[in-house]
Amino acid sequence: MGTIQSDEIAVKENRSNHEKKKLAIIQEFRTNLAKVAAGKSTFALSKKTSNLFRNRKAAKSKKLDVKQLNQVISIDPEALIAEVEGMITYEDLVNETLKYNCLPPVVPELKTITVGGALVGLGIESSSFRYGLVHETIIEIEVLTGDGNVLTCRADNEYRDLFFAFPNSYGTLGYALKIKMKLIPAKKFIRLTNLRFNDINSFFEKLQEFCVKNRSLQTDSYIDGVIFDKTEMYIIVGEPVDEAPFVNNYTYLNIYYQSIRKNEINYLTTYDYIWRWDADWFWCSKHFGMNYKILRFLFGKFMLHSAKYWKIKHLMASNSILRWLTKPLEKPSESVIQDILIPFHNTQNFFTFFQSSIGITPIWICPSMSYNKDQKYTFCNLDPSTLYIDFGFWDIVPSWKEKGFLNKMIERKTEELAGFKSLYSDSYYTEEEFWQIYSKNTFLALKAKYDPQKALKGLFEKCVHKK
Ligand SMILES: Cc1cc2nc3c(=O)[nH]c(=O)nc-3n(C[C@H](O)[C@H](O)[C@H](O)COP(=O)(O)OP(=O)(O)OC[C@H]3O[C@@H](n4cnc5c(N)ncnc54)[C@H](O)[C@@H]3O)c2cc1C
Repeated sequence: MGTIQSDEIAVKENRSNHEKKKLAIIQEFRTNLAKVAAGKSTFALSKKTSNLFRNRKAAKSKKLDVKQLNQVISIDPEALIAEVEGMITYEDLVNETLKYNCLPPVVPELKTITVGGALVGLGIESSSFRYGLVHETIIEIEVLTGDGNVLTCRADNEYRDLFFAFPNSYGTLGYALKIKMKLIPAKKFIRLTNLRFNDINSFFEKLQEFCVKNRSLQTDSYIDGVIFDKTEMYIIVGEPVDEAPFVNNYTYLNIYYQSIRKNEINYLTTYDYIWRWDADWFWCSKHFGMNYKILRFLFGKFMLHSAKYWKIKHLMASNSILRWLTKPLEKPSESVIQDILIPFHNTQNFFTFFQSSIGITPIWICPSMSYNKDQKYTFCNLDPSTLYIDFGFWDIVPSWKEKGFLNKMIERKTEELAGFKSLYSDSYYTEEEFWQIYSKNTFLALKAKYDPQKALKGLFEKCVHKK
């Protein structure tokens, strides 16, 4: 960390660099706007990484190169505010904020998730029971809208409609070029308590109790959990501390999710806690053989990063030769990759359904509750006074039914239980079903105002699986 004066100079330079990059992007956008509108194509972002799981052929689009919008502009550790470019990854951001002993209040678990991506795609973390989803940590968004204008949107200015509509809009109303966000103070270590439960009733009861208690304490802590099966589940409570009697590490030979079953008490550095799920992509690394010690020893240094798994999976799904070569090995199955928020009072009902109809284990459990009960987000219409539990499950399930059968069942159950499904993976809603969840009129009105030429895709077209 430099002196105050050199920090001020650096911030000035960062702002000026951002303005230059911004001008170049606006110019590229405006130059292509007429062509895109006339040619019935749309814009899409060109980025180095992604965490989307919507398997389908890429539509014709003009790629807008935003890779260079990946810098921190300023960090104010006293005001606890950071100003960052929209495509910065949380990994790069956390590297910077930790130098000032700060953290974003909600850091999504995978290193390459960007601040812009998590804002438009609903980011969640074990601090969400206190701070809500990522968008509640955002103060201001500089948006390049579909008509080629750049607007600064806040909860209290003339563009508040766009500010509140931005979460869960997946880049259909505009692109976040720069973001002002809150920070929280960080300590050096996280003390973890892994509490085992043998039945689902006491597990959910205790989870709620912890959330209510820790929220009322107003100190920072982390709560998530894992259900390994119906008789083995854990609540994981993380408490920031300045000192640790020992510290474990799960970025090479040891596997974090296995440690939950072994150690009731554990300590990680704050950095390693934040990225505890990344090296093994929660537990999905087993599909790449990375649960074997020998493979970890040989390839671990290269492989244990969520971006590597995503790239391999994406390559397999998008390369027709690889698909053809592996086809004979494939058994009838369905990819079920979802994060579903269920109101607390319906969690047991959802779990019973999920266990009997889908059966994926482990399940990641992450509680979430709105931070500010007075703010309502247009396309993330959660009840602000309800505790929600996120069920995260990511696997391939044997299935001889028609494509999407299991996912559709989950979608229907989620609706029935007043839950909320995130849209980063395949969805199977009909257009009618989709617009019963999201207000079509509101979306069309925002489109008419901020993207009248439809240079950006529509929400249904972008987020829902196409046959
Ligand atoms: C296995 C798995 C586990 C996951 N676990 C978590 C988790 O624990 N916590 C969590 O929060 N999320 C999780 N996610 C979901 C993830 O946060 C979302 O997919 C998120 O949108 C990805 O952000 P990204 O930066 O990688 O964006 P991308 O994948 O690149 O893009 C996502 C979408 O956002 C749009 N977009 C990207 N950047 C911008 C921008 N600056 N402005 C406007 N639009 C933009 C893109 O056009 C695209 O439609 C998980 C996903 C998977 C597959």
